[in-house]
Amino acid sequence: MDQQKKEPKKEPAKKPFNLQIWYILIAAFLFMSLSSYLFNPVGGNISYSEFKSLLKDGRVDSCQITSSLIKGTLRADDLRSEKKQTFVTARVDDPDLVKELEAQGVQYAGNYENTWLQQFLFTWILPIGIFFLIWRFVFKKMGGATGSIMSFGKSKGKIYAQEDLKFSFDDVAGIDEAKEELQEVVEFLKTPHKFTNLGGRIPKGVLLVGAPGTGKTLLAKAVAGEAGVPFFSISGSEFVEMFVGVGASRVRDMFGQAVQKAPCIIFIDELDAIGKTRGSNPIGGHDEREQTLNQLLVEMDGFGANAGVIIMSATNRPETLDPALLRPGRFDRQVVVDRPDLHGREAILVIHSKGVKLDKNVNLKSIAAMTPGFVGADLANIINEAALLAARRSKETVGMSEIEEAIERVMAGLEKKKRIINKQEKEIVAYHECGHALVASFLKTADKVKKISIVPRGIAALGYTLQLPTEDRYLMTKVELIERICVFLGGRIAEEIIFKDVSTGAQNDLEKASEIARRMVKYYGMSDKLGIMTFEPENKSFLGYGMSTGKEYSEETAREIDVEVKKIIDDTYTKARELLENKKPMLIKLAKILMENEVIEEDELRKFLDKEKEGKIDETNVN
Ligand code: ADP
Ligand code: ZN
Ligand code: MG
Repeated sequence: MDQQKKEPKKEPAKKPFNLQIWYILIAAFLFMSLSSYLFNPVGGNISYSEFKSLLKDGRVDSCQITSSLIKGTLRADDLRSEKKQTFVTARVDDPDLVKELEAQGVQYAGNYENTWLQQFLFTWILPIGIFFLIWRFVFKKMGGATGSIMSFGKSKGKIYAQEDLKFSFDDVAGIDEAKEELQEVVEFLKTPHKFTNLGGRIPKGVLLVGAPGTGKTLLAKAVAGEAGVPFFSISGSEFVEMFVGVGASRVRDMFGQAVQKAPCIIFIDELDAIGKTRGSNPIGGHDEREQTLNQLLVEMDGFGANAGVIIMSATNRPETLDPALLRPGRFDRQVVVDRPDLHGREAILVIHSKGVKLDKNVNLKSIAAMTPGFVGADLANIINEAALLAARRSKETVGMSEIEEAIERVMAGLEKKKRIINKQEKEIVAYHECGHALVASFLKTADKVKKISIVPRGIAALGYTLQLPTEDRYLMTKVELIERICVFLGGRIAEEIIFKDVSTGAQNDLEKASEIARRMVKYYGMSDKLGIMTFEPENKSFLGYGMSTGKEYSEETAREIDVEVKKIIDDTYTKARELLENKKPMLIKLAKILMENEVIEEDELRKFLDKEKEGKIDETNVN
């Protein structure tokens, strides 16, 4: 079942919401209100009419008149205390005031208020300050640049090597194939001379590909730990900085350090954050990410293959990566980090339950059986949750009930992310994959089945049947193409035979089958009715953009092509169905085995088939 399942995009770690900006805004507000209070207090302690009546009564001694206020003191005879009593009132437009003051013989003076500072503050400093704050706020949101402007460049985010990592391959379980492949990298880092003396070229870049939580980061650290070399680690999203040139300068800096510390490992996590296909920016132009990527490519090409620096990288979306990254001399080696199967999950549980006091009745094997599709991180999470639950219940040991509850919790989270398939789905997938595998096994020209799996693979499918060609092929015959279509249809047919119903999981298979049939008719002249003729030059893609050249045949021919394509599919379908109907008991048996073990390897399948075939030898030749 090659149904595409979109992995939820791994969200970049959220920054804690930045409160600082609010502090600054509040401070600015307080400052504004304070200064306005200081510079022009509104109103006063008496009203203007009171002031006038005091004036009339002759009790005002002196006053100062500013543009907005009248401040003054009252005559001594009115003093109840030693202190001179002062008053302030707001000034109103009163042309007779001066006359009255003179009539009462009050000392008065105008006062030129010095508002220069005030004006300067309000017309210059404050707007600039606010503008600056907004600018910082916006860019903080956009680029995540922290720290002040002065600190960007080289010193900031300087990447130091971690030495003496305590991880080893023993901390990683369930992904043995990936471990095996990386063993060579460890060997090289440990004894580079052994390789270089022979003139061998060591892989420069290793790309770990796998679903989130399958242990890619852990694996990279384990390689460094096993080899005992320094480990430079940075995540792609950290590279992407706000200020142009910072990402690129970081790359340069890191490689510079690494060469000095060789042999060592540079690990770039979440490569997709910088390694997205260039030129996908609709507005065009270089952005920061692109510059960083370019710098990375330059650096990777820059030092020799045997400089002793191995660049490891991890991604869960290899399909988005710029093809330039995958060229020889760059990340030319790709290691798939699969979801663990039953045994793998058990092994991972063993590792993570080491430090946890488990109850005697806890059976890790049955936990592994309960958790199909879980990755290492999920399993680690389960053990941890269970331990927390047990602690909350003041238990001495972690029991099965806590673990089951923890599984439920983790599963609920995963179900939302669509990573877990239910029992019924699992059954459908198992029959579907066995359908592919059986058809492939009984056709002469079909590629050998290497592995059948219903461990959902994060990147693409719920299950898969891996076929490997036994030799390189440059030409394919009509029979081979037809048999290939048969294999693609096998999954769907198995579902029909067993469940009398079909699922959406075959979409990708059907697409591929139709594509082959269409090519047979249009390009290879393999249709009896339309004869030896091609109907469209093969799509030459120009720089990766599919450029359709338009049809070079009539509507009528188009219709005939469709009819012919359908005929090929229909004929093939009948043959494949016949084949599978005959093998129905075998299909059921095989699917049962698959459901139990989740994975069937090549030799296991061969043994099964040999045993089944012993009685009746009938090679069905679909042709
Ligand atoms: P990834 O980088 O693939 O997203 P990590 O390496 O960050 O996954 O895994 C997160 C954690 O999950 C690890 O620190 C480890 O505790 C646990 N884990 C994941 N995979 C495995 C594994 N295969 N074996 C043991 N522990 C694992
Ligand atoms: Zn399929
Ligand atoms: Mg990771």
